[in-house]
Amino acid sequence: MSDDYYWGIDLGSSAIKVVLITSKGEIINKSKGKTLFPLIKQVRNLLNSSDFPESPFSEPASDTDEQIKINHFIASTGYGRNHIPFTHNKLTEIKAHFLGIQFLYKNESDFSLIDIGGQDSKIIKIKDHQILDFVINRKCAAGTGAFLDEICHRLDIRLKDLPSLATKHDKKLNLGSYCTVFAVQEMIKILVSGEKIENLAHALYTSITKRVLEITSIESGKVIFSGGVMQHHPILLNYFNDNLSEHELFLAKDAQFSGAFGAALSLT
Ligand code: ADP
Repeated sequence: MSDDYYWGIDLGSSAIKVVLITSKGEIINKSKGKTLFPLIKQVRNLLNSSDFPESPFSEPASDTDEQIKINHFIASTGYGRNHIPFTHNKLTEIKAHFLGIQFLYKNESDFSLIDIGGQDSKIIKIKDHQILDFVINRKCAAGTGAFLDEICHRLDIRLKDLPSLATKHDKKLNLGSYCTVFAVQEMIKILVSGEKIENLAHALYTSITKRVLEITSIESGKVIFSGGVMQHHPILLNYFNDNLSEHELFLAKDAQFSGAFGAALSLT
């Protein structure tokens, strides 16, 4: 049996995710932390954390210390992927999410992959087990996790309470804003007019769904979701289902870690 360890690090805009796998793609351990600066320090903290008893990484004597260890292979992805000097591979988030999801759904050759992250959302089209095309939405925050985070923060709603609030809505509201600042103003206006918070929670999910689906059209067939927003708000599957009735929807296991998992797989 191989003693090699494969580390995947996804340096996202909201969270840094680390996954450690075997050469067969079995997850040994995983961990995540907030994206804080300097990034390299946060990555080292995670690699050294008690979540990874098998970690050979210790605090380096200096920032330029060689960190690569025998039998340990590291790949990075995410917008901060170039900030780790000691990697064997760096790959785009598109490639990393594709590899992670394709491994989990080996039998699927043609599908759409939707990743909703902290500051962008992506739709990737897969054909014959290959990336055919992809579109990234970075221009508006409204289809991203940052939108949910900021609005919940401003309205003093706990993120974890949002799903149960939304299920209790009794009216469908429409949020028109694409930008978080305007959306917050719009929501405050609605609340001041006496609207129920439950109806706002529902409108938030409707808005995210709409903004993501505006990125590009999605061919009928299978749609697989990855990313932190879907992992923590699986209720969104119902919202997508209302709009994608011709499709079969799946939420990947450990969806927030799909990119880190794919990065690790790129080395095996
Ligand atoms: P990125 O790769 O851009 O950092 P992620 O895929 O890690 O993004 O997703 C981050 C988003 O996931 C956050 O913006 C937040 O909306 C959501 N999220 C992460 N952790 C939680 C949590 N514990 N509860 C609710 N939502 C969460």
